[in-house]
Amino acid sequence: MVYNFNAGPAILPQPVLEHVQQELRDYQGRGMSIMEMSHRSKEYEVINAEAEQRFKRLLRVGDSYRVLFMQGGASTQFALVPMNFLAQGQTADYLLTGVWSEKASEEAAKLGMVHIAGTTHEEHYCRIPRPEELKFSEQPAYVHMTTNNTIYGTQWHALPEVGERPLVADMSSDIMSRPLAAEKFALIYAGAQKNLGPAGVTVVLVRESWLATAPKTLQTMLRYATYAKNNSLYNTPPVFAVYMLNLVLQWLEAQGGLTAMAERNQRKAAVLYAAIDQSHGFYRGHAAPDSRSLMNVTFRLPTEELEKAFVSAATDAGMVGLAGHRSVGGIRASLYNAQTLEACQSLAYFMNDFAHAHG
Ligand SMILES: *Cc1c(COP(=O)(O)O)cnc(C)c1O
Repeated sequence: MVYNFNAGPAILPQPVLEHVQQELRDYQGRGMSIMEMSHRSKEYEVINAEAEQRFKRLLRVGDSYRVLFMQGGASTQFALVPMNFLAQGQTADYLLTGVWSEKASEEAAKLGMVHIAGTTHEEHYCRIPRPEELKFSEQPAYVHMTTNNTIYGTQWHALPEVGERPLVADMSSDIMSRPLAAEKFALIYAGAQKNLGPAGVTVVLVRESWLATAPKTLQTMLRYATYAKNNSLYNTPPVFAVYMLNLVLQWLEAQGGLTAMAERNQRKAAVLYAAIDQSHGFYRGHAAPDSRSLMNVTFRLPTEELEKAFVSAATDAGMVGLAGHRSVGGIRASLYNAQTLEACQSLAYFMNDFAHAHG
């Protein structure tokens, strides 16, 4: 076994993997795996319904919201959100806090007008914009934000005040990591492969009244309404990924839900930020302290040679997935829900040792 710090696809809860292994070839006595059954079967219908209910229960939203299981990753959502909600002549507001929010805004700009309502691009996205720096349009179609910036290691710790404007969020890398005022959002989307399950399913939570405003002229598979109307079963869904998502959500509930998860995530991240802060400048955190992400801890070493040596020595010590995103370099440790405190402590010890040996 290794300590897995991969950014995505990422670590999954061990009990979930064991459960899957156990029923992989014979799903609940049916003599075949869940992957080999019809998505119209009773068995899959139960999984599909349970996953939707659990998702809503964990986020404490009621019947005014729908949960959709889609494909194409968060990157497809970048396009689907404006296709469904940015009508001709309208403006959408985007908060730019990193690579993913830039990509989302570029897709919207192909369809309509984009207003940048806040950005820290000039500061290499080392922090989240302050409330007084945000300038929203009068009546945008929606405001789009990225709650956790996976690559830069920053995270919104308070939601922006958007008034009546519909708020849309890409939560791919921190969904279900902390309690959330979900009813403040018109739409939330997340690729599953960071905090929810395996790659292959993208979860969307959408307010039903907002969904009703989308045009009916879009192609069937590009309309959120198609998924809502058909319980995500209009065409063949990613059956195995939704099955695993349901098990991860079940595990989350057994852990004590989002409040318990947030406490755990705080403790885990604190161990690594302390290792950075106590290194007398050997490690330099990328994120400004008030914008630090609890999910992705990013830092630099004095030289790129030392960073390479760090990643390689950590791998030898059984800690993998620590190289930063190819666009920014440095080191990144990803601490999603399934990550253990033990792994974080082990990495912190390693960081101290490495700094003493090379500082
Ligand atoms: C990983 C990531 C994406 C890209 O997700 P895909 O599912 O690969 O399209 C988008 N946004 C955020 C915040 C991410 O972390």
